[in-house]
Amino acid sequence: MSAHPANYSAIVRGAGPTGSLAALAMARAGWQVTLYDPSDAAALVGRRRAYALTHSSCKLLQRLDLWDAMAPHCHPFDRLELRDLGSRSQTAFAVPDAVGWIVEHQALQKELLEACNHHPGVQLSLGQEASIAPDRDQLTVIAEGGRSPSRLDLGIGFSGFRYRQGCLTALVQLDRHCSPTTAWELFCPEGPLAVLPLGEGRTQVVWSAPQQRCEQRTNLSDEAFLEQLNTALPSEVNAIGLHDQPAWFPVEWRIASRLGRGNTLLCGESAHRCHPVGGQGLNLCWRDVETLARLASDPHCDVRSLVRRYSRRRWLDLLGVLLATDFLVRLFSNRNRLLLILRRLAISLLNYSAPLRRRSLNLATYGPKGILLTTGWQQLNNQPS
Ligand SMILES: Cc1cc2nc3c(=O)[nH]c(=O)nc-3n(C[C@H](O)[C@H](O)[C@H](O)COP(=O)(O)OP(=O)(O)OC[C@H]3O[C@@H](n4cnc5c(N)ncnc54)[C@H](O)[C@@H]3O)c2cc1C
Repeated sequence: MSAHPANYSAIVRGAGPTGSLAALAMARAGWQVTLYDPSDAAALVGRRRAYALTHSSCKLLQRLDLWDAMAPHCHPFDRLELRDLGSRSQTAFAVPDAVGWIVEHQALQKELLEACNHHPGVQLSLGQEASIAPDRDQLTVIAEGGRSPSRLDLGIGFSGFRYRQGCLTALVQLDRHCSPTTAWELFCPEGPLAVLPLGEGRTQVVWSAPQQRCEQRTNLSDEAFLEQLNTALPSEVNAIGLHDQPAWFPVEWRIASRLGRGNTLLCGESAHRCHPVGGQGLNLCWRDVETLARLASDPHCDVRSLVRRYSRRRWLDLLGVLLATDFLVRLFSNRNRLLLILRRLAISLLNYSAPLRRRSLNLATYGPKGILLTTGWQQLNNQPS
């Protein structure tokens, strides 16, 4: 990315995966960036979760020269098995290099903060009270997550709803017969269950179910938890141990009523939240960063027009992904007989048609613009940025 000749400055509020990547992307474009978070580095890194990264995220990391540092922590999976337990139908997506990568938060956040620390354009301000008063010409990027206080202060609404489903996450050990490079998305009537390989049998399970059931499952003994999990998993996948205490969090569908005001813009979960089905969350946040990075490197773009152009460019992708994830959850989390027939038909079509499978994967990888891409994966990976 080219350096910005105007030497603009920005404050990024929130140093989670979105804020730290946004700070780096802007610094690489020549901006002076202050990255602020009330949590200190240990607390930021210490969060227990794992993300599924798509090719759109991988390409962004490559463009920012972060992929080489990140790649050793990213576990590729070359096959995604999709099973609908309700209609008893299944299909699979296979891509020779990788359908995507699974990465643990701790490694990802550590690399991002280290890269921020080493970049002369980023000033880190972690674990202390905010003493930053933005000046009139400065850009403020809000990346404070779903409960963003600055979004509230700006009077920007955050509309949507909370799902009855919650999402339980656990790091489990699978037995040695399970394929180490296959990920699973199982559509169970109570909610989707994703099985994400992290290498050597370690696997992140992302298990959606009614909130009360999530709560009950987090209180089970290890043996009882594994027994319930194995009942839900396909026969080829067998969980034999737990690496951490399962935890659950509520799941929301929300979108900000606007993405910017004046010289402030919203990025990542401050602006949108969606169901974890299909592993869209962080990838969608990072596509915000990608748009921001492109605009930040445009020397003809002043701060206010950057905010306006960012807001205009992000709507289609955000609405498309939020609506698509909600549609998937509603379609698959029930036993309606008509929908069961439709689901079986849709999955048969996917099985029959390789181009349809490719377009579906493109949609999951690049958002709505992915549907228009007719190229194969190899060509997609080699697209000019
Ligand atoms: C409990 C939990 C478990 C999850 N597990 C998974 C999972 O297993 N897999 C998955 O893909 N996704 C998971 N998610 C979702 C995933 O964490 C989000 O998609 C991702 O973290 C969004 O990144 P972000 O940087 O936008 O927001 P966040 O990661 O929420 O980061 C926001 C940052 O802003 C900071 N902040 C807050 N207030 C202020 C302020 N006033 N000023 C400055 N900074 C502030 C916070 O300290 C935080 O560091 C989980 C979410 C939760 C809540």
